[in-house]
Amino acid sequence: MASDSMEKIVSLCKRRGFVYPGSEIYGGLASTYDFGPLGVELKNNIKKLWWKYFVQDREDMVGLDGGILLSPKIWEASGHVKNFKDALVECKKCHLRFRPDKLKEASKCPECGGQFTDPKSFLGMFKTTIGAIEKEGVEAYLRPETAQAIFADYKNVLDSNNKKIPFGIGQIGKAFRNEVTTGNFIFRTLEFEQMEIEYFISPDADWNKIFENWLEYIYGYADLIGLPRPQFFKHEIPDEERAFYSKRTIDVEYQFPFGQDELWAIAYRTDYDLAAHQAASGQNLEYFDDATKKKFLPHVIEPTFGVERTMLALLANAYREEELENGETRVVLKLKPNVAPYKAAVFPLLANKENLVAKAREIFGELKKDFNCAWDERGNIGKRYRYQDEVGTPFCVTVDFDSLENDDVTVRDRDTMKQERVKIGELKKYLTGKIQ
Ligand SMILES: [Zn+2]
Repeated sequence: MASDSMEKIVSLCKRRGFVYPGSEIYGGLASTYDFGPLGVELKNNIKKLWWKYFVQDREDMVGLDGGILLSPKIWEASGHVKNFKDALVECKKCHLRFRPDKLKEASKCPECGGQFTDPKSFLGMFKTTIGAIEKEGVEAYLRPETAQAIFADYKNVLDSNNKKIPFGIGQIGKAFRNEVTTGNFIFRTLEFEQMEIEYFISPDADWNKIFENWLEYIYGYADLIGLPRPQFFKHEIPDEERAFYSKRTIDVEYQFPFGQDELWAIAYRTDYDLAAHQAASGQNLEYFDDATKKKFLPHVIEPTFGVERTMLALLANAYREEELENGETRVVLKLKPNVAPYKAAVFPLLANKENLVAKAREIFGELKKDFNCAWDERGNIGKRYRYQDEVGTPFCVTVDFDSLENDDVTVRDRDTMKQERVKIGELKKYLTGKIQ
């Protein structure tokens, strides 16, 4: 896919209500975005399918929804306060900050040509204050990852549920990083959503085998949401680049329009986090194994996913411009029906014929009980098809004069543009079969 397709995707996202630049009426806030009516549906579908596949479908998984605000002691124990930093230089003239390794010319500010300060360390976590008076308040952080709430609650989950190791805890939620290098649309932003799993295993387990099993299971999610495997690359992170506590990390990279980059990842974090929280909190976080009568601190395999990156990969993969027989070009999002914002759109052939509208409304009301459906009676049928193609609606249902006589409708397929007549009584079954 050509790099100009990023511009086309950004434009479609705004035009059709998937993604808007954040705080736009005030001139915008860099590296923040809002998700519009179509975007929130797509994101929710990504998360719902993830939750079902990784949490509900597995007997060895449970879920958690931890806080965004956590005790600052958690971030001290995890090493974030000390290590989650970038060395930055600041322009003495315009005060913009840059990562020295990302600069084309190391001595001059690319914005104004000013001189730089020596590198200073800059915390990647957002700070906030708990309490009404800033001076007396407790300094806290917005979480830079969802993982730590899982470690902090691991013992609570174990004590309140009938879980035996190996088992995992999954979580979906917002995380915040005060990134200096941002860009590529929703790929890297200050605020984003993560879908993470901490999978607890015995220190004696064959961790590499469990790691490999999870990696394969992750690819099953790609299949489920319709991301093609040939677009993926496994990037084994070499020893010298890996986080010091990780024994193995693989970035699951994807071929985005702007290049190959990290989409998901899996890491073996050893017992680093639990050991750190056990030491800092003074609480015993060991697991007692009934079978062997041994106590141990579990080790952890962590598969992690970005929601917005997954959304961008889906949009890039689905985006097509197709030339039609009449010479016109249609833009179509060939999203898999299970992630598409609308599963079907319902139209009366003519908006000014009461009997057609009444029949179409009846069908719309019935389908809405099972699927997220769009209603459209603007303009002509051709224009409605073009619109639904652009937002990825897999099926369009049209009620015409024959429908009143024969109790059937025209169903038009987004990808093939073929139409067929389906009995109204069979419609729900017909769509259900195609939307799975
Ligand atoms: Zn400058």
